Amino acid sequence: MALFDLDPVKRNQITHYTTGILENFYHQARARDVSPDLDIHEVRAYISDFLASEETDHKKIIDHVFGGLEKHAVQVTHPSYFGLFNPRPSFPSILSDLITATTNPQMAAWTHNPYAFAVEEYLISELGKRFGYSRPDGTFCSGGAEANQTAVLCALNFHFPEYLMSGLHGLDKQPVLYCSAETHHSIAKAARMCGLGINSVKHVAINSRLQMDVADLKRKINEDKAIGLQPFLVVATAGTTGPGSIDPLKEIGEVASENNLWYHVDGAFGGALALHSTKKAILNGIELSDSITIDIHKWLAAPMGTGTFLTKHSSILGSTFRITADYMPKEGNDFDVEDPYTHSIQWSRRSLGMRMYLPLLFFGWSGFEQTIEHHMTMGNLLANILVSKGWKIMNHSDLPIICFKGKDDSDNTVRAICDYVVKSKQAWISVYPINGELCLRACITNYATTYEDVRGLVHLLENARQSLN
Ligand SMILES: *Cc1c(COP(=O)(O)O)cnc(C)c1O
Repeated sequence: MALFDLDPVKRNQITHYTTGILENFYHQARARDVSPDLDIHEVRAYISDFLASEETDHKKIIDHVFGGLEKHAVQVTHPSYFGLFNPRPSFPSILSDLITATTNPQMAAWTHNPYAFAVEEYLISELGKRFGYSRPDGTFCSGGAEANQTAVLCALNFHFPEYLMSGLHGLDKQPVLYCSAETHHSIAKAARMCGLGINSVKHVAINSRLQMDVADLKRKINEDKAIGLQPFLVVATAGTTGPGSIDPLKEIGEVASENNLWYHVDGAFGGALALHSTKKAILNGIELSDSITIDIHKWLAAPMGTGTFLTKHSSILGSTFRITADYMPKEGNDFDVEDPYTHSIQWSRRSLGMRMYLPLLFFGWSGFEQTIEHHMTMGNLLANILVSKGWKIMNHSDLPIICFKGKDDSDNTVRAICDYVVKSKQAWISVYPINGELCLRACITNYATTYEDVRGLVHLLENARQSLN
């Protein structure tokens, strides 16, 4: 028996014990506090005390790890976590993690895992078609940040093929890209990481609905061209991280095409709407894009670390990322396939598509639609109850994201209300500034959130307000 394998009888006991705790964790989500007391010393001591105890009983070890994750974490799987885009993973997607960790598909070389790769190929193709791409290509990746970085690299390669060999030094003009002040900061980070620098990121003004102002986009492009800069990319967002606004996707697409810019739509959260037969109309214009980011670990309820990058240019990923390495297996050369490692930022990579494939097999595409519909219903419900209780909605989102405040609330009052809710440990919300005014922000991120959970949040908010008087 190899040390790492454990004895089979013992292993069986541990598996049984652990799945019992998992089931309890899953089933009893509402019984837990949503947010922890934050104490850096306590959490470090939790670890050092356990290590010092030199405990070797496997059940105690499992208890220690679960205990830490229960006590010292915001419970993003709690139905009253109305937070950032962190989902409660669907049960089949959790199973898929267990399965892939056990079989450990290596997604670098195609020959090692034709099945796992074909699963991803199928999903990328299906997703791309739902965005109106006729021959989509793409890759699974770690999340929106990696997908956005992939977009910036593809756009650079598309416009400046010499970038691949000589880097930015080889270019005559300084490339610049456009996004709005509400764009996710991973775009600025991507610009920094590929050597463009933050100054290459031009921020377009936003309108009163917090969408990119297309007139300002045109103006900035013209001004930059006039001073010798080289515009090459515009990034629109479908579901901004704060207020959930959707940029005018069609108009931006037209500007991109008139100016020969790569058009990327960051739909990390909102892109999920493409899986809804009628609500996908909210994303009209996205078919004009050259590439799209959509996270599976946000609205589509996969565990953390699951994003996708989609593109309508079937050879751009290969030409951007292909590097040949003599030690990589070559048996796949007889087939019409590309090795995943020549197609993405990552090299060795987990089989991420399985986290979407297993839920798909269990529930079908209609299962995703049904879940999206439920989130929208809960979002509308929350907005309606808030309005009926005299709260003012401050954003205009088609997504289940509500930014709101009392009519005369100061920033301090808003902060105090948020603190009250979070400290109650019964729900989690955040604050976000809109047009200079701090607001409360609640997002439906959990497919298990019910009418009662939504009402419970409003009840807490009302209590918070009373406690301030
Ligand atoms: C969350 C988010 C990102 C970053 O995605 P990660 O999955 O956290 O890497 C990028 N863009 C938008 C609009 C997002 O909401």
